[in-house]
Amino acid sequence: MSVTPTHPPQRPVADRCPGLLRPHVAQDGALVRLRLPGGEVGVDVLMDLLALAGRHGAPVLQLTSRGNLQLRGLPDPLPDAFVRGVEATGLLPSATHERVRNVLAAPLAPGLQPLVRDLDAALCADPALADLPGRFLFAVADASGSPLSEPYDVAYRARSLTEGLLLAGGRGRPVSSTDAVAAVLDVARAFLAHAPHGVWNVRDLPAGSPVLGGLDPVPPAVAPPLEPGPVGEDLVAGVPLAMLRPGHVAALAEVAGRVVVTPWRSLVVRGGAAAATALERAGLVVDPASAASRVSACVGAPHCAKARSATLPVAADVVAALDARGTATPPLHVVGCERRCGARDGDLVAVGAPDADAVLSLLPGDRA
Ligand code: SF4
Repeated sequence: MSVTPTHPPQRPVADRCPGLLRPHVAQDGALVRLRLPGGEVGVDVLMDLLALAGRHGAPVLQLTSRGNLQLRGLPDPLPDAFVRGVEATGLLPSATHERVRNVLAAPLAPGLQPLVRDLDAALCADPALADLPGRFLFAVADASGSPLSEPYDVAYRARSLTEGLLLAGGRGRPVSSTDAVAAVLDVARAFLAHAPHGVWNVRDLPAGSPVLGGLDPVPPAVAPPLEPGPVGEDLVAGVPLAMLRPGHVAALAEVAGRVVVTPWRSLVVRGGAAAATALERAGLVVDPASAASRVSACVGAPHCAKARSATLPVAADVVAALDARGTATPPLHVVGCERRCGARDGDLVAVGAPDADAVLSLLPGDRA
């Protein structure tokens, strides 16, 4: 077991991003990933998905670092009733493009959602763009630079209602909001045309790539990830260990019709600040000082064949111990092997920890 700073993961040789129509078979069964462009989703859809998950697999929705949802522990092959049930939620508008609909948007900027919908529709309307790598990530950002903390490939950052910047590879150019979708997709098409074989992301392009032609260096404007807690009348509700459970969703249904899934293990509940206490009682995290807002984990054993240890129960025990101590910690990520899935820059990563004490003993203040 070790605690180490984050390093870039080793990339496998092929893009194996799962979808509903191409599930990944993990140690605990089939896993499907459902894309939520812009993150917005009806609470009724979450309830339908949880019912399907409970009927066919693990009764939980796992939030991903790109604002998507995963259902796991499913039979392989997937039962037709499960696939039809997911399709009935409306989350699979395109069979050909399901794995490329990876679009992050600023979670606190509902005014950007129409642009996200236009981008998603135009993406799905171009047959060629179905060939994008599943790891290619679009972003639609607000003027503060949220969510450009995430490793996007091409983005539009709105600076006003009418204009903004097209961004890719640390470069950019001004673009009007009416031209933003076309400009973003032109970069994606250039990527398909010019990226060397095996390159999945703009950041891995060789220097001087024509994909970035016409773009100039621009100073970065990046907002930090949202922390749990009220933001005006809205609420950022953290989801412990990124596992959204039936009790959470039942409580959300009492206060909101729609929520926004963020890339940071949380949901934005618009108008939800007044309901923070009720949502906290249901197990969601509304206090940024809570250890649950700082501790994360990969799925570990028994869900992942590569895992040397269970991670979710260990991480839950770490959260309980840290809350009992009341001491602040750096972001801490518990993983079951050296692949370090889900680790973010700046995380302390505990690899293969057999129990919470082993993790806690490696935190800076606990080292002998
Ligand atoms: S870090 Fe290792 S154990 Fe955890 S999900 Fe990734 S491959 Fe599995």
